[in-house]
Amino acid sequence: AKAAGKATWARFEPRMRSEVVNHARLGSELHNAIIRHELYLAYQPVFDLVTGRMSGAEALVRWRHPVRGAVPPAEFIPVAERSGLIVPLGSWVLREACEQLARWQAEHGAAAIRSINVNVAARQLREAGFVDEVAAVLSDTGLIPANLVLEVTESSVLDGRQVRDTLQALHELGVRLALDDFGTGQSSLSLLRAFPVDVLKLDKSFVDGICDGEDRGRLAVAAAVAQLAEYLDLYAVAEGIETAAQLERLREMGYRLGQGYFMAKPLAPAELAELMVRTGRP
Ligand code: C2E
Ligand code: CA
Ligand code: CA
Ligand code: CA
Repeated sequence: AKAAGKATWARFEPRMRSEVVNHARLGSELHNAIIRHELYLAYQPVFDLVTGRMSGAEALVRWRHPVRGAVPPAEFIPVAERSGLIVPLGSWVLREACEQLARWQAEHGAAAIRSINVNVAARQLREAGFVDEVAAVLSDTGLIPANLVLEVTESSVLDGRQVRDTLQALHELGVRLALDDFGTGQSSLSLLRAFPVDVLKLDKSFVDGICDGEDRGRLAVAAAVAQLAEYLDLYAVAEGIETAAQLERLREMGYRLGQGYFMAKPLAPAELAELMVRTGRP
């Protein structure tokens, strides 16, 4: 009866308005989600496309809502960004992900998994204490700074002087910086000159098109990003690889690292450890 009532409500409510209401409620619920342990992390392996070994993993936040069930990050991350809740949420993700990498390395050796990728929102980069926070997490977990890859988007990098100083300080700390969703932004090339970037992460939307004979545009972007990375001595990573053909094509283009459902979906820590052991011994 409850589900039917909800459906009726949704039909009468104009789309925009119901979204606003929904966001307000989500925001207040998100506030307690960390405390109530409703948030957890899934880890999607990043593979070395040449050796086939796992090189690292990207931490992806999940919210198991007691009533709504699984809420996708694409729904609550934007809400968290607007309300500022992304700051405590992001702090939790950073610490949890680094602790997890330290546990894997303690159990399986540092060679079994080298790095952890953590998504960082613009709001976090604007916090005055962010660099100190990263330094504290590294020191508490005993990770070496190069083990941590912070994924930032082009738009958040363009946020101004303070963010640029923060990225410079993180770089000096030895943390690696990845430009996420690369190719989707506006001023990619000038960004690369102005910021201490280590990794270019090609967006899935380009990977989707590379084996489509009709789609020369996306193929060209994918190939150009790999070339650019090589010239600038950066790592090129491809995300959202779903087929063997895409994997082969990206490898030919020069992508050394990749992630996608073809190799592995986001996993629970124990599942990833199992896969790590399996792929680590040829
Ligand atoms: P993203 O950083 O671009 O992450 C990649 C997304 O693509 C993930 O979705 C991942 O599960 C999905 N994906 C990976 N491989 C494949 C594939 O082969 N096929 C398909 N169809 N999808 C694939 P997810 O986990 O839903 O995350 C969505 C976005 O939410 C992320 O996009 C990221 O922008 C944001 N996000 C997730 N966790 C965090 C976080 O802890 N902090 C912040 N600030 N943002 C986060
Ligand atoms: Ca990412
Ligand atoms: Ca991405
Ligand atoms: Ca993406």
